[in-house]
Amino acid sequence: MPKVWIDGQLVDKENAKISVYDHGLLYGDGVFEGIRLYSGKIFECEAHLDRLWHSARAIRLDIPISRDEFRAAMQQTIKANGFTDCYIRACVTRGVGYLGISPKKCARPSVFIIADTIELYPKEMYEKGMAIITASVIRSHPNAISPRIKSMNYLNNILAKIEAIDAGVPEAIMLNHEGNVAECTGDNIFMVRSGQVQTPTTADGILEGITRKVVIGLCGKLGIPCVEKTLQRHDLYIADECFLTGTAAEVVAVTKIDGRPIGSGQVGPITRKLMEAFGRVIREG
Ligand code: PMP
Repeated sequence: MPKVWIDGQLVDKENAKISVYDHGLLYGDGVFEGIRLYSGKIFECEAHLDRLWHSARAIRLDIPISRDEFRAAMQQTIKANGFTDCYIRACVTRGVGYLGISPKKCARPSVFIIADTIELYPKEMYEKGMAIITASVIRSHPNAISPRIKSMNYLNNILAKIEAIDAGVPEAIMLNHEGNVAECTGDNIFMVRSGQVQTPTTADGILEGITRKVVIGLCGKLGIPCVEKTLQRHDLYIADECFLTGTAAEVVAVTKIDGRPIGSGQVGPITRKLMEAFGRVIREG
């Protein structure tokens, strides 16, 4: 029976339950991380802990355990489930409160950690690339809930994801409040033009993806020019290549956007190079 770590206890999956009075459930008041374990090693562990702590700080939530305790709790969860490769979902909610939004009545934040498998997109899309659309729903305004916070309220992205599913594709691009490209519903977006890799900036209203950071680093190592710049949908339409990055998605090519083939309509050479380099990083550490 799979085990879930909840507030210091490992409990069977079927008994892993949170109170209906938890503000994580009532209001989406909480933060989380999605993390990968590769060959027994937590990938970019410190970067994920940094982002979790920053997200918590941004919503004025005090994580009730230390970073060391958090790391140990993740290790304990992995061990209890016997994984060497898996996806870890680490969540911190405001905790049990009452039926009003004030977090002041929530005595203690709750922490829970799930270790499980994940397959975001079908395998063949990693060979052939995927088609995506632009959603009509935009990414939240940075002065509302900053997209830099990995909060438990994903409705914004869920509405865009539903548009993708309705259109028969697995992902959707979300534009920001200025109409520029932000990211996809659970991944960051990159494009290639004339040999240069380009991706929206933090100021364009994105989650600062950890896979994004790793891929930018790989471009540096491979001598591929890479810039962070504001992109319009037009830039994507005329791009030579396009790909997405994310912890669950890893690196996956986009070959069609809004029905338009991108570049040759095939997985591009720079995308392939980065997919292979990323594969080496996760295999060899
Ligand atoms: N953007 C959004 C909205 C996401 O939810 C995610 C993944 N959770 C990403 C980007 C990719 O971030 P990371 O590479 O850290 O998983």
